[in-house]
Amino acid sequence: MNEQARKYVEDFMNRLIARNPGEQEFHQAVREVAESLAPHIVTSPVLQQMKVLDRIAEPERVVIFRVPWLNDRGEIEINRGYRVQMNSAIGPYKGGIRFHPSVNLSILKFLAFEQTFKNALTTLPMGGAKGGSDFNPKGKSDNEVMKFCQSFMTELQRHIGQDTDVPAGDIGVGGREIGYLYGQYKRLRDEFTGTLTGKGRDWGGSPLRPEATGYGACYFAEEMLAARGEKFAGKRVCISGSGNVAQYACEKATQLGARVVTLSDSSGFIHDPEGIDTAKLAYVMELKNIFRGRIREYADRYPSATYYPNARPWSIPCDIALPCATQNELNGAEAQALVDNGCRCIVEGANMPSTPDAIRVFRQHRLLFAPGKAANAGGVATSGLEMCQNSMRLQWTPEEVDQRLHAIMRNIHAVCVHYGTRADGSVDYVAGANIAGFMKVANAMLAQGCV
Ligand code: GLU
Repeated sequence: MNEQARKYVEDFMNRLIARNPGEQEFHQAVREVAESLAPHIVTSPVLQQMKVLDRIAEPERVVIFRVPWLNDRGEIEINRGYRVQMNSAIGPYKGGIRFHPSVNLSILKFLAFEQTFKNALTTLPMGGAKGGSDFNPKGKSDNEVMKFCQSFMTELQRHIGQDTDVPAGDIGVGGREIGYLYGQYKRLRDEFTGTLTGKGRDWGGSPLRPEATGYGACYFAEEMLAARGEKFAGKRVCISGSGNVAQYACEKATQLGARVVTLSDSSGFIHDPEGIDTAKLAYVMELKNIFRGRIREYADRYPSATYYPNARPWSIPCDIALPCATQNELNGAEAQALVDNGCRCIVEGANMPSTPDAIRVFRQHRLLFAPGKAANAGGVATSGLEMCQNSMRLQWTPEEVDQRLHAIMRNIHAVCVHYGTRADGSVDYVAGANIAGFMKVANAMLAQGCV
């Protein structure tokens, strides 16, 4: 970056931090994009005059609301609900809902900001949004989760709609929660429309939506590897997380011939050097999705595995790492450990799992590194395909959806290569994804004037 670009980033970030004090995750996500974009913006008078980056970093609307509900003991509990409607330049607001005690405005603004670029990369007409609550589903009964979802939707329904804003799942919001949320939406609005995605297959959901984020990340990794004449087959893969994204990343990586050796949750990770094969993954899916258990139980069931409490899997030697848990779950020291142990490819299934220090290490060593906004876009892309099927009032086959998902991931890879190829021929996927996503949204904003 030249001096002018560096100054542009610092001035821009100083303004952003002053306007949004204390929102560290939001600052982190915006800085990364600003650094990729600055060299282009400083040579474009139009982007500067029209203050496109300043406008993109200011949400179009933020809704914050009280969510009161009754627990199983008949006591009142109060949570806070949010919807950040970041950008609608290229389509209705679109993005998931997260239920997790860590949820706050900074985290949802960073997620909605990332979502704007990710959605643009899918080529489908979707703007960017994110929502959620500090509600913790862990340890809650089904009845309590339903009560919470109904109260949350009672307010949220005023702000969403199939042509306005289409929420979906994220951490803590899966098929069960989408069911309760959709049921309440339908009851209050008296309409059966595609206002939420991630619905059940028999009531408007798309085939392959549950699989899409994990599968998509593997399709993206396949493209990156193929560009270097390599394949998944025979590779050791470390995955973090054990939720929806991790489960289907594990399934697809295994189908492609790799050996997945780790999974984790917020309490620790398991290392199974023999590999988490189809039968073991079926056990994990039952454990996590039905019994809502902890990953530690895997090691009780399979003696080939060791459980490491209060640790993350990045010290385990692997060829490919797929962080699929949450933001900032892979720091600079862990990135260095991956490099030292021979890892050559990191593909983010989660949103912003690598810290800026970790990304610096990956870049320095010219590793294949795919940021979440490119690599995990398969989930929201398939949500876009669900919206499409809902509008047409028909359902495609799993094969048809898989084909479209595959084509979308290939295309995202191609645009990252187009915008991110360095002088030495290596690819900066971070810059590629940021520039490609930004240009599409920025051009739409320029066309639509000062709104
Ligand atoms: N929460 C997912 C994401 O981060 C999916 C969003 C969606 O399907 O709308 O992209």
